[in-house]
Amino acid sequence: MCSILELSNIDYIYHTKDGETKALSNISFTLSNGEFVAIVGPSGCGKSTLLSLICGLLVPSGSISFMGHPLQSKDILNMGYMLQKDHLLEWRTIASNVQLGLEIQHKMTPENLAYASRLLETYGLADFAAKRPSELSGGMRQRAALIRTLVLRPELLLLDEPFSALDYQTRLNVSNDIGTILRQEHKTAILVTHDLSEAISMGDRVIVLSHRPGTIRSIIPISFDPGLTPLEKRNDSHFKSYFNLIWKEFNQNE
Ligand code: ADP
Repeated sequence: MCSILELSNIDYIYHTKDGETKALSNISFTLSNGEFVAIVGPSGCGKSTLLSLICGLLVPSGSISFMGHPLQSKDILNMGYMLQKDHLLEWRTIASNVQLGLEIQHKMTPENLAYASRLLETYGLADFAAKRPSELSGGMRQRAALIRTLVLRPELLLLDEPFSALDYQTRLNVSNDIGTILRQEHKTAILVTHDLSEAISMGDRVIVLSHRPGTIRSIIPISFDPGLTPLEKRNDSHFKSYFNLIWKEFNQNE
């Protein structure tokens, strides 16, 4: 597998009028094409900062390369973001919400519109295409938000705590759906979360960060029988050992 993203010796310091805050220190890792990496760490350890560096909103010291070249501001066009809030627009139908990025980027080609329809169909939203966001459940809305991102065919997806606003049961179902969709569409993704179970059930590797300034405590490869969904992985006999291992790493932070 070729690498899509490479971070080398990344440091980041926020400068404010009150002084400096070192958010990240000496971060290095590589992400292969098609891989799903989960990043866990305590609140304030620099997880969101790391995503902002990867999409070029902040510039660190050290180097970031994306698809074989040094990261440039236009690379953001090849990345998709999924956040806690779905930011669907209530005055638009689900179909036209999903087409929003295509519209903004002047990419409303028949091929792209057909792709948007196919994604709505495949992931159970075709019957809701003409509805408004408020007529959908929280889980369906998150699926629509993901499809809005996928229609732009991003090379890399950045998921910043996308399920943390949902209640526990919905969260399990939605993370299962989103994890399954991303596998089926062969997407490369980075998920930032403070939920260890979510990280283990969705990631191919889990990166554990320390307290601020965030440094990499460990990178743990996760391997289950191929084809298991995130929910099935939670019930697999290996799940508990991964959980205990990562819990131990996580608590070295304390
Ligand atoms: P996390 O996502 O892990 O909760 P963040 O990346 O949001 O952490 O923040 C890392 C650290 O950097 C925190 O201590 C936070 O207070 C600080 N920080 C974040 N944004 C800013 C900013 N704009 N100015 C100054 N400090 C910031």
